[in-house]
Amino acid sequence: MRDFDYIILGGGCAGLSLAYELNINNKFKNKTLAIVEFREEYKRDKTWSFWKVTDHNFEDCVIKSWKNFSINSKSGSHEVVNKEYPYQTIDSGLFYDKILKQLKQNKNIEFFKNTDQLRLDNSIIFNSIPNWGNYKNKIWQHFKGLEIETSKNIFDDEIFNLMDFDCDQRDNVHFFYTLPFAKNKALIETTWLSKMDDKSLKDYDIQLEKYIKETLKITNYKITYQEEGAIPLFYPPNKIEKNIINIGSSGGMTRLSTGYTFLNIQDHSKHISKNIEKIQSLKPYHIGKKYEFLDNIFLKVLKKHPDKMPKIFLNMFKAPPQKVIKFLSNKSNIFEDFAIILRMPKWIFIKNIF
Ligand SMILES: Cc1cc2nc3c(=O)[nH]c(=O)nc-3n(C[C@H](O)[C@H](O)[C@H](O)COP(=O)(O)OP(=O)(O)OC[C@H]3O[C@@H](n4cnc5c(N)ncnc54)[C@H](O)[C@@H]3O)c2cc1C
Repeated sequence: MRDFDYIILGGGCAGLSLAYELNINNKFKNKTLAIVEFREEYKRDKTWSFWKVTDHNFEDCVIKSWKNFSINSKSGSHEVVNKEYPYQTIDSGLFYDKILKQLKQNKNIEFFKNTDQLRLDNSIIFNSIPNWGNYKNKIWQHFKGLEIETSKNIFDDEIFNLMDFDCDQRDNVHFFYTLPFAKNKALIETTWLSKMDDKSLKDYDIQLEKYIKETLKITNYKITYQEEGAIPLFYPPNKIEKNIINIGSSGGMTRLSTGYTFLNIQDHSKHISKNIEKIQSLKPYHIGKKYEFLDNIFLKVLKKHPDKMPKIFLNMFKAPPQKVIKFLSNKSNIFEDFAIILRMPKWIFIKNIF
């Protein structure tokens, strides 16, 4: 059996972000790290996007950024002019390459496919391997995206479409999300906020084809990349164990109302790196109790009134852009929180607090 000072379970976004942050801060000079990851190869499998409200280590993995965005609903379109916080997209393939190249140069870091050779009880363990418990009744953000290339220049690549609700809702919440990387290239996603037990919502390919052909009016295109996934909009039922610190989605880094996780993972990695010597004695890191409280009410409303959500989202984005973006990126102050809360239908939300 081998002993390591630190073990990271799961070498995905959170595991690798943490290893990178610790490595650039020289935390492995006299310490050893084992990363346990069972995937056979690393390649682009996710496209991470977020409003850049704080600095991060991966500017060189950003493939595109935008200032402005739009929201569409059946009753019209709203354009948000956002000067302060760019919306950035990171290619996970570039992210994995950059980190792995750097970590492999450090002799104190080793990679394993499983924990068979590792002694777990002597190390500090950072766990990002998901265990979602009984998830059937919970709300997920599930989606499929196609990156397409068109023969003609069709997209306006200066503005992205965050949510297009002008589509079939099937008694749930459904929207399309379009990131135009170039005038002839875009990632188009069909996204549902719903429980996972309704398989009929997962005819993603049919939904995407219909949207591309009938709404975007694109007939001549080729698919260059695709991704599919589901982000839990609830916290995992983790057991509290003394030497285990949960990170990533498993560590509650997903914002429940939006699914945004990437930048929270980066902030958590910085927090761990700064406090690594005393990390076990600190209270668990949170993205903010007030957001947990507000998001849980928001999700209750979403479960009971899916039909009202397009209007609620549209109204929210009519607040001053910096305030909404800071709120959705959990960086808002109390005045900014109120500016957003006041845009919600008050009675529905008040009823769902109780
Ligand atoms: C397709 C997709 C797109 C997303 N887009 C965005 C976005 O645009 N913006 C945003 O903020 N968030 C986004 N998210 C949410 C979130 O940022 C990602 O899910 C992110 O990858 C979470 O990081 P993680 O480390 O918690 O999980 P992962 O990145 O999934 O890492 C977990 C790792 O554990 C490994 N693993 C699992 N089980 C085992 C095992 N038994 N043994 C060994 N290894 C194991 C997996 O192979 C994986 O590498 C997206 C999620 C998905 C699925």
